[in-house]
Amino acid sequence: RSKEQGRDRYQFYSSTMTSKVSEWLRLEHLLHQALVNEELFLVYQPQLDLESGKIFGMEALLRWHNPELGLVSPAKFIPLAEDNGLIVPIGEWALLSACAQIKAWQLLGIEPFKVSVNLSARQFQNANLVEMVTQILQETEIDPQWLELEITETTIMQNVNFARQALEKLQQIGVRISLDDFGTGYSSLGYLKQFPFHTLKIDQSFVRDLKENSRDTAIISAVIALGRGLNLRVIAEGVETQQQLELLRNLQCEAIQGYWLSKPLIAAEVVNFLTCHAKMAG
Ligand code: C2E
Ligand code: MG
Ligand code: MG
Ligand code: MG
Repeated sequence: RSKEQGRDRYQFYSSTMTSKVSEWLRLEHLLHQALVNEELFLVYQPQLDLESGKIFGMEALLRWHNPELGLVSPAKFIPLAEDNGLIVPIGEWALLSACAQIKAWQLLGIEPFKVSVNLSARQFQNANLVEMVTQILQETEIDPQWLELEITETTIMQNVNFARQALEKLQQIGVRISLDDFGTGYSSLGYLKQFPFHTLKIDQSFVRDLKENSRDTAIISAVIALGRGLNLRVIAEGVETQQQLELLRNLQCEAIQGYWLSKPLIAAEVVNFLTCHAKMAG
């Protein structure tokens, strides 16, 4: 009897695992075709300077719409793409697409703003990264100052020496560098000293349950002070409520990004958003 139970249990685990694996394989198969079939697109989430009230930038975020699966979250397909290396061509596509969009907005005569593109560890370790960025900037004819690249502490940690070299070269080209999800990885102060960052993004986990006199408050105000001392722009991510906004204002946070201001927008909605925002602010 106990033997039977054991077998049942084994079958149970094994079939769950098999379905996980086959789901993964199916996703992988479909992701391979996503680029060719033009199923990927970028959305843009505005970033607000709290002092001037101006929108100074947008973060480009990848989206995948597959006819069978519908909209697939980047939290699901980016780890997969990292794993099988597809992130390299996908990431290159995202960078080119964002730069072409920057150019298109500038041609429309919109006041320029910077666009941030996320880089994953695998892309960052690619020896051709700097060359690829340079080439895309030339091809799209945009001024490098309007492009920012977001990387995480974890990415840096995987190869500190390589990261330093790559970031220095990118800085020489004139693109900006942002440290994403700050505080969730191995937040070494040494990195802040060694690397040429322009922006520090406080991870949304510190903003989510923000209350007065909480631990989150202490951490956020320390990061803000650090950013000010090092002459970095500090952006709080994931700001959803008026209350969070007010608390961040009190802590003299410079800039925010989050649903309170706007969800990520498709490119066509961005111009309208900027016009409405300018009317409200002005
Ligand atoms: P991230 O770079 O930290 O991006 C911020 C994430 O927070 C985005 O999720 C954004 O939609 C979400 N978000 C923005 N405001 C709020 C808010 O007020 N509340 C909450 N709860 N969430 C908010 P998304 O678009 O699902 O992207 C998830 C992650 O996937 C990104 O985190 C980034 O690490 C990665 N990712 C997205 N696009 C790309 C890309 O083009 N390349 C690479 N390598 N990674 C990407
Ligand atoms: Mg990011
Ligand atoms: Mg982030
Ligand atoms: Mg993140």
